Amino acid sequence: MDPIANQSFDQHEQVVLVSDEDTGLAGFIAVHSTALGPSAGGCRMAVYDSPEAALTDALRLAQGMSYKNALADLPAGGGKAVLYNVRDGADRRAIFEAFGRSVEALKGKYITAEDVGTCVGDMEAVSRQTRYVAGLPPRQGRAGGDPSPWTALGVFLALETCIDRSLQGARVAVQGLGSVGFKLCERLHAAGATLVVADINADRSLEAKDRFGADVVAVDAIHRVPADLFSPNALGACLNAGTISDLGAPVVCGGANNQLATPEDGRRLLARGVTYAPDYVVNAGGIINVMAEYLGEPECKVADRVRAIGPRTRRILDDAKAARLGPHEVADRLARERIAHAAATATA
Ligand code: NAD
Repeated sequence: MDPIANQSFDQHEQVVLVSDEDTGLAGFIAVHSTALGPSAGGCRMAVYDSPEAALTDALRLAQGMSYKNALADLPAGGGKAVLYNVRDGADRRAIFEAFGRSVEALKGKYITAEDVGTCVGDMEAVSRQTRYVAGLPPRQGRAGGDPSPWTALGVFLALETCIDRSLQGARVAVQGLGSVGFKLCERLHAAGATLVVADINADRSLEAKDRFGADVVAVDAIHRVPADLFSPNALGACLNAGTISDLGAPVVCGGANNQLATPEDGRRLLARGVTYAPDYVVNAGGIINVMAEYLGEPECKVADRVRAIGPRTRRILDDAKAARLGPHEVADRLARERIAHAAATATA
């Protein structure tokens, strides 16, 4: 398997195969850029159709982390780990210790944390092998712990920005009720929004129905629901040729990474008059917390930086409107400029 031949390869600095016979660990660490600092991004554990599909995800997610970290003004580049093919009954602690040894071998070029399918306990196992890890239980007054509440806060603030008013009375269709999606629903409910939800895990949907009075719809129908806002908080590629033509909301803003299946899908949204808040702009809350923890900063710094997500989203939407471009194009261009400038300064 040649990463360079993969369609999602974007001059990534390094791609490492992580594998451990004893534990069954298999996966990739993709380092997209270290121009702005050590590459930082979570570790995803999921089932993939093939190792190539896992590699594609790692490459795409790592590039997204470079852009996310650049726009959030973090002293970090972009990287991501994807673990796949986990055997039934595998020893989770041993897997993450083995993964920690792979992270350590990169000598600080990659900093890991939680993502889909991994939790604080997993990162504690990683931390037995390397210090290049965050998302650990917080120390008094310091940033740390599960990053997802911060991600949910950033998405909530961006949703408010997108409709330019309070979310009181707004109807929001939420796809995915995991760590981010469920906490987002808590905030939306508290703000007086009406919720329509879908998750492949029926128990999560029922919990949202009980707790927030949410209407539950099928997972293949949530994007079609007539609503003020559609918020994707499950997995990537939910905005594609098939779903965009059917969207029931004029605005898309959510925490899921890589929502656009292809860059053309951003253009499709624009052509349909749908406002799309770029995923990596609005979901930066988690990595903001991760980096603050890694750098030993206090929690109050995290709150200030996450609050900047609303105004940053506003600027990107306004610039896109003025330039008649998709917000994803404006955000991508800005991120690439920042990374290129840092790389040029480093070599000057
Ligand atoms: P999670 O694994 O806790 O939750 C994902 C949820 O989506 C699960 O409840 C799952 O059942 C559901 N789901 C999966 N496929 C679905 C489908 N087709 N339709 C509806 N629901 C589906 O993950 P998370 O941490 O909440 O992350 C959610 C998304 O946000 C991911 O794309 C992740 O990369 C991104 N993200 C997370 C963070 C964070 O802080 N956790 C930060 C930035 C971005």
